[in-house]
Amino acid sequence: MSTSAGRVTFLGSGTSHGVPMIGCRCPVCQSTDERDHRTRPSIYLQFDDGTSVLVDTTPDLRTQALRYGVERVDAILFTHCHADHVMGLDDVRRFNVLQGGRPITCYGDDQTLDNLRRIFSYAFEATDHGGGLPRIQLQRLAGPLSIAGQTIVPVPVWHGPRLILGYRVGGFAYLTDCNGIPDDSWPLLDQLDTLVIDAVRHRPHGTHFNVAGALGVIERLAPRRAYLTHICHDLPHAATNRQLPAGVELAYDGLVLEI
Ligand SMILES: [Zn+2]
Ligand SMILES: [Zn+2]
Ligand SMILES: [Zn+2]
Repeated sequence: MSTSAGRVTFLGSGTSHGVPMIGCRCPVCQSTDERDHRTRPSIYLQFDDGTSVLVDTTPDLRTQALRYGVERVDAILFTHCHADHVMGLDDVRRFNVLQGGRPITCYGDDQTLDNLRRIFSYAFEATDHGGGLPRIQLQRLAGPLSIAGQTIVPVPVWHGPRLILGYRVGGFAYLTDCNGIPDDSWPLLDQLDTLVIDAVRHRPHGTHFNVAGALGVIERLAPRRAYLTHICHDLPHAATNRQLPAGVELAYDGLVLEI
């Protein structure tokens, strides 16, 4: 078992539409169980020395930051450039101000950084918008990265036809948005304490693991504990948890883990 290096807060555990979905009257979307209310998927890592790292900037980032007290972001790790993972990037303006105007380094693969440059082109224009622009610095991830003395290992995973990035820190791994693990990535996931993995619903999906697929990965990797994330409205929290094997649970917004 690994010693604690910090903690992770689930800022969001939902699929791209969020739960409840707009205009849906299903039991999960109408549930009064707070754990059935899922904002878009993101986690927040806080290391023991105070360094804080955000994984993805969802369209719900502002709400998530207010709800869970995110007041400092030293770096952002992007998994990929789908809208549910990047569209809150403009909200980092507040962290820029709180952190003395310093730009925040955003890590990702080439495709993600190219897309961020295009989608948020206004942030890279050399015009003077005063405090109106997010100050970010894009940094291509070519391999493991060191932040606050912690090694962060990018873990390529299949998300439909393309490879995106999961991340591992010590005994903790976060694999959102995936439906396959490439041969070369299995060794990067050896000896895990805690695995977080995509499991969008029970029915098969073209770009996400369903619950059965995620359980297959969990069985092979055999972490001490595992949490499912990127969850749609098909999975009621309490009832689904009762059906999952020991050591496996659905994540929920606000869940905090020591890592
Ligand atoms: Zn629904
Ligand atoms: Zn995606
Ligand atoms: Zn997604």
